[in-house]
Amino acid sequence: AIVNASMDCIITMNPEGQIVQFNPAAERTFGYRDREVIGKEMGDLFVAPEVHERQKRSFQLYQATGGGSMLGTRVEVPAYRKDGTQFIAEMATQPLTLEGELVFTIFLRDITERRAADDALQQEVEQRRQVEEALRRERDLLRTLMDNLPVFIFAKDLGGKFTMANAELVQALGLPDVSGMLGKTDADLFPTDLAERFRADDEQLLRTGRPLINREERIVDSGGQEQWFLTTKVPLRDGEGNIEGLVGISRDITHLKRAEIELEQAKAAAEAANQAKSAFVANMSHEIRTPMNGVIGMTELALGLATDPEQRMYLKTLVSSSEALLAVINDILDFSKIEAGKLTVDPIAFNFQDCVEGAVEAIAVQAGRKNLELICDIAADTPPVLVGDAVRIRQVVLNLLSNALKFTESGEIVVKTSVENQGESFTRIHVCVTDTGIGIPKARQEAVFSAFVQADNSTTRRYGGTGLGLTICRKLIEMMGGRIWVESEPGKGSCFQFTLCLARPKEATLDMQPPESGGVAGWSVLIVETNPTVAAVIAEMARQRQMRPVVASSAMAGLGLVKQMRTEPEPPFDLVMVEERMPEMNAFGLVQALRLVPGYEKTPVVLLSTPDHQVDLRRCREFAIEHFLKKPVRRTRFNECLRALCDQKAGTRSPLIPELVSTSSRRLHILVAEDMPVNQTVTSKMLENRGHKVDVAGDGVSAVAMYSKNKYDLILMDVQMPRMDGYEATRRIRSLEIKTDHHTLIVALTAHAMKGDADQCRVNGMDAYLCKPLRSQELYTLIEQRFPSPEAGDFALT
Ligand code: ADP
Repeated sequence: AIVNASMDCIITMNPEGQIVQFNPAAERTFGYRDREVIGKEMGDLFVAPEVHERQKRSFQLYQATGGGSMLGTRVEVPAYRKDGTQFIAEMATQPLTLEGELVFTIFLRDITERRAADDALQQEVEQRRQVEEALRRERDLLRTLMDNLPVFIFAKDLGGKFTMANAELVQALGLPDVSGMLGKTDADLFPTDLAERFRADDEQLLRTGRPLINREERIVDSGGQEQWFLTTKVPLRDGEGNIEGLVGISRDITHLKRAEIELEQAKAAAEAANQAKSAFVANMSHEIRTPMNGVIGMTELALGLATDPEQRMYLKTLVSSSEALLAVINDILDFSKIEAGKLTVDPIAFNFQDCVEGAVEAIAVQAGRKNLELICDIAADTPPVLVGDAVRIRQVVLNLLSNALKFTESGEIVVKTSVENQGESFTRIHVCVTDTGIGIPKARQEAVFSAFVQADNSTTRRYGGTGLGLTICRKLIEMMGGRIWVESEPGKGSCFQFTLCLARPKEATLDMQPPESGGVAGWSVLIVETNPTVAAVIAEMARQRQMRPVVASSAMAGLGLVKQMRTEPEPPFDLVMVEERMPEMNAFGLVQALRLVPGYEKTPVVLLSTPDHQVDLRRCREFAIEHFLKKPVRRTRFNECLRALCDQKAGTRSPLIPELVSTSSRRLHILVAEDMPVNQTVTSKMLENRGHKVDVAGDGVSAVAMYSKNKYDLILMDVQMPRMDGYEATRRIRSLEIKTDHHTLIVALTAHAMKGDADQCRVNGMDAYLCKPLRSQELYTLIEQRFPSPEAGDFALT
């Protein structure tokens, strides 16, 4: 019964190795029925033959000697089931005497599963060992790192108690070992205010879970020494992601911080020194400018008196040298103002075209003297009014023009402006100043915009200058939000250009509106002009007024056109514009011939004259030339001229012939308010030389007093005066004026384009301003504009 119920296989064999008993467990394990195996040998059935052989030898040994090597011991052997599958069997053999006969009982069990489980266990143990080894190494690495890194490393639990600290931190706190820290809080280790700060940081971090990265902490130790730390704290989370504390790393950055502070102080000191230097230069150049008033003014006066050619030559050189010196001083003044951060831009609503044309006009005479054609081509779609710093824009254009003039010996200088981009509230303007001068090599084109740099840096250079002009231009353009650059080819010429984004005013003021079209619309106009660019610009202006321009490039071609028209059934030209000085036949020759052509006896003729010489008025009269336009032709003047022509045609104005235009025939009563005796003399003499009656006031107070007593046509008001400045004096005069219903023209005399001067003058009720040192020509021009002589007419252009 036991054998039958046994869970293990029990197989009994006789000493010959034949199976005599095979229990049900054996049947289940091997898949044989007992009758299939009784009398058979195990080696034939389910163990390897060599295993069976060993068994048999043991049985025989046991029989012979009473002992067998393998009997009783457990062995593991491979065994086979009936279906051929293999398993591992644990086997023990027990000899028995059964009814006087010796048998061997084998106890056998399938241990495949147990073996697998054992293996798995073994593997797990090995893995665990490896993990533990890796962990240990990591711990050692971490420990080594922590104890040797020159930073503080610590960990705290939720209650703020230290759970870990590295050697550096323990040492820094003056503790013998880490046990002095563990379980302690910041309050136990640091001064109260510091501990509170740390605790507040920790609490915020533990609450939000957001790490504190690279926080700079300033600590003042008990000895009053300042220390700086750079601290990072991150939350420490358990397996479920819950915050269970924090780790922190802190680095002593005191030496870095000190260096940084020192550097900052040094930088601030250097900047202050630089600014002081620039302020000094600005002041100095201002001081140098003041006596220039006297030098230039007096020389101009002396020039007016001198008749001896040699003396005149000396004086002229003196004027031009002073002008050159003044230009240098102005450059330095601007440059140092920029450097000192004192230069600002002053946007106002202004007429862009006037501004550019004004600059062009300023060099027209000099360009004429060098026989250079000067052309100003302003795009017709330019909005009449824009918002920008007109003074500075003019300064830049004038600077580029002066350079073009200086570096060009023959050919032409063209100022061309175009609208790059037209937005609702802004206009991007592109301005090019092109010359046919010496040009700049590619390699030097960027350098010329640097301070004190010139394209030709040799000591034997031909052209003078400070090398500051373009630097100032660039700074100004950049301050106004634009860009300036140059394209140039040596020997061919240069094209300096800039772009500026200018705002459009909210509402255009009336006097800045473009001229009305009409009147001249439909007129055919013959333009006789040898320079094609000039001709094109004038033709475009005519087209803008709906006129029909025809261009002839010489007097002969012009006459040819006139005569050809006669043979065709075309009406004659309504207007003829003629360049004054042409090769072969000049304007007078042409007009003389023209007047002989039937239909042209009375055709209006406009003379396109060069600015540097006086038009021959006698000949003008002789040939009934009633109008002239000075080149470069300004659009405003062009339009004024057309208006005059229309009026004349309509009979609202009788034909006029200009008189000597530079003489204002009216004798004015003028008050000069100026504190410097030299300037008083210069200004009064300039005016008296033109026949005006001049009174002088030494300061604002006397200016107001003198105004109350006399009726002046014009007051020239120095802005800076003792006792009462020019602004204050003007305000007082204006308030006195309210009762009189008379507006006295007050012109400010200001220092060189000081910031806000133009605005200040306007705000304080001044009508215009002139920059010092005062030039006689500028003064006369202003007076002529404001007090036109009746004969000169407002279309006779100078
Ligand atoms: P400056 O004219 O006082 O020397 P700028 O800054 O105005 O100083 O000009 C710097 C240099 O750039 C000039 O010295 C000259 O070499 C070069 N340059 C400027 N404008 C022109 C130009 N239109 N043609 C040729 N060279 C020019």
